[in-house]
Order: sequence, then C-alpha cells, then structure tokens
Amino acid sequence: MRILVIEDEKRIADFVCRGLESAGYAVDVANDGNSSLNLSRDTAYDLIILDLGLPDIDGLEVLDRVRNRKVAPPVLILSARNAVDDRVKGLELGADDYMVKPFAFVELLARVRALLRRGQPIPERLQIGDLLLDCIRRKVTRAGTSIELAPKEFSILEYMMRNPGRPLSRTMIVEHVWDMDYDGLTNIVDVYIRHLRSKIDDGQAVRLIHTVRGIGYMLELPERTADKALER
Ligand code: CA
Repeated sequence: MRILVIEDEKRIADFVCRGLESAGYAVDVANDGNSSLNLSRDTAYDLIILDLGLPDIDGLEVLDRVRNRKVAPPVLILSARNAVDDRVKGLELGADDYMVKPFAFVELLARVRALLRRGQPIPERLQIGDLLLDCIRRKVTRAGTSIELAPKEFSILEYMMRNPGRPLSRTMIVEHVWDMDYDGLTNIVDVYIRHLRSKIDDGQAVRLIHTVRGIGYMLELPERTADKALER
C-alpha cells in the first residue's frame, strides 16, 4: 500500500510520514501542489492525504485535477481550514474524508485504514483461463483440479489475478502482500513465485505466470491460447 502525503509544513509531513511508515505503509511526500500532481500522475497511489494551504496551487485545485483523472485514488483532506465552506467544497470536489488540524495520529490512521479497505472491493471469484481463485473460501483450482497453497502464496496469486496482464515488480508484490516497503524482502518474492509456478503451471500446456525481464512477474493468458483455454 503506497500513500502520497501532500504537505508543505515539514514538521507535519515528517510526523505523518513516520507514523504511516511504522504502521507498515510505503509513503511519499510532496511539498507543493505541482510536484504532487507530477508524483500522483507517475505513481499508482492507494491513497492521497492532502493539505489545502499549499505554497503554489490551492489544495482544492489539486483535488479537482486528481479527481478528473481516469484512475483516482481516495483523497483524505487534512487541513487547518475549518470553515464549513471548505469542508463542503472539498467533499463536493470528491474528497473521501476531511480531518481538521490539529489531529490525533491514531484517528488519522483509523481513517486511512477505513479508506483503504473501502478502495478494495473483494470480488468472490477471480478467473484467468482455467485458473480459478475463490476469494471467500480461499480455494484455487486449475482445470478443475484443486491446488493447495500456503497463505502467502495465495495472497501473491490473488494480487496477480487482480492485475492480469500487468507487470508487477518484486517491490509491488512485497508491498501488497507483506504490507511494507522493505528491499530486503524482494528476494523472497522469487522463492514464492518458484513455488507458485510449480503448483500452478507445472505439467500444464499453457503457462500463466510469466517473468518480465528487468521488472518482475505477470500473470497472463497468452492471447493465441485464450480462446482454446476458455473452451475447456
Ligand atoms: Ca499548509
């Protein structure tokens, strides 16, 4: 889970950043509106925490621009502005929550967690070709044959199946499955992928887990086989 904190006051930015990092999130900080717009365009954040009083562009303007993009993460406004007008305008422009400074970090963390949960609807079943994953019963089958997975193997496969055809870096996999941004863990992804491959792809005519050179891994049904595999 990666969070962007947009805050020009260094003391508050550091405080929020440290707190969120120790709660297991990966955090980036932008100190003004323009750099926040660049960062949020180039990186897929799961949540944005936004201050309104920024040195260059007003926070509400930042919100409006972020909200008008195709993929927009939830936005929590964290502002010293307590006027009803600002709150209403923020929520009208699509903010998901509004907190007034000064604030207690535990409350911020509770609201962050609630927003991140809301942003992740859980479909009951995921399917790629003949590979089926039941999110509720936590069962996996390929071509009707049940496959036993360890909990972390299941989480990695679920993450990959939610992002079919999208190359996922080792860091992205670590962040989503272990909920932390820790480089030392990225090697472990290779180990888990090896296990997953032997369980999911060994002995199958169509391989679903692919290595993306220089990036990481991707789950995909190769196009030429897609129709054939779906007929089974
Ligand atoms: Ca400010």
